[in-house]
Amino acid sequence: MKEALHWRKLKDGRVHCQLCPHYCVIADGEVGKCRVRKNIEGVLYSLIYARATSVAMDPIEKKPLYHFYPSTSILSLGTNGCNFVCPWCQNWHISQATASTEEVSSQRAVKLAQRAGSIGIAYTYNEPLIWFEYVVHTAKLAHDSGLKNVLVTNGYVNQEPLEELLPYMDALNIDIKSMEEDFYREYCGARLAPVLETAKTAKASAHIELTNLLITGENDSPQGIEKFVDWVEENLGPETPVHFSAYFPSYRFSAPATPLSSLLSAYSIATQRLHYVYLGNVNAPEGRDTLCRHCGATIISRLGYSTDISALSDGKCKACGGENNIVA
Ligand code: SF4
Ligand code: SF4
Repeated sequence: MKEALHWRKLKDGRVHCQLCPHYCVIADGEVGKCRVRKNIEGVLYSLIYARATSVAMDPIEKKPLYHFYPSTSILSLGTNGCNFVCPWCQNWHISQATASTEEVSSQRAVKLAQRAGSIGIAYTYNEPLIWFEYVVHTAKLAHDSGLKNVLVTNGYVNQEPLEELLPYMDALNIDIKSMEEDFYREYCGARLAPVLETAKTAKASAHIELTNLLITGENDSPQGIEKFVDWVEENLGPETPVHFSAYFPSYRFSAPATPLSSLLSAYSIATQRLHYVYLGNVNAPEGRDTLCRHCGATIISRLGYSTDISALSDGKCKACGGENNIVA
């Protein structure tokens, strides 16, 4: 447990958390919406500082990040809690319930990453922004040790803490679940606008990729995809890698799994305007490899999590020397 950052005292012993746009007002003895920030006698504490539910080496492609040190592995850490309540959450046992944790100090995380030959540390699995104090501390230490930091996030954070965190983040995968405020309100218990702000702010200082989980009948209409692609092209640029991912029934949501036709339709719409469009959680040749946008050569081939980068040289296309927004 550690005293939290980004909060202030209110009258009557209540506290006002200012980490994310929920701006929870929390009475003594209570927790905020994320369940992991608690008011104890008028002081806000993080209940999850240095407590991890999950510690694993993952391919960087699993985050998913396809343009950031492709074909490497990264030490991945997660904990309990989330500031969203998505009813289809695949990781609900840590995001919406409480799993057992082990202590992983920032120093230990850095040592584990170094020993495993990791390129760095990914904060992932649940929502890492609510792990703010630990993520900032660990990410600073990781940078001092020459490691990279990656955030896999729903993007729901206020601008001030985001700007405090970004100098230590090298890459982010940001989930944009829909372009409709109603969707965010109904399913996530949150708002869309701050997520879009996060993506724009992060783009200015780090490598970013986006994930859009397509949920059958909810956010997979061609009009919805068009709106998403419009926004990405206009605000982040067509070079931003985008991952359309298939949903499978989980937790409290039983709509049928996303049909391949929805993913292929999204792929077809998005590739008209965006340079790098990928399909995830699905076995299809479309949206699997990276093609050089200058000469069309296949520069990264993928099969499952096996990645071949032999057609890349210093992150550029070996055939034509073209640049493809790849950090390597
Ligand atoms: S971080 Fe948690 S406690 Fe703070 S405002 Fe967001 S949901 Fe509420
Ligand atoms: S934001 Fe991610 S971790 Fe949180 S509930 Fe939604 S899917 Fe789960």
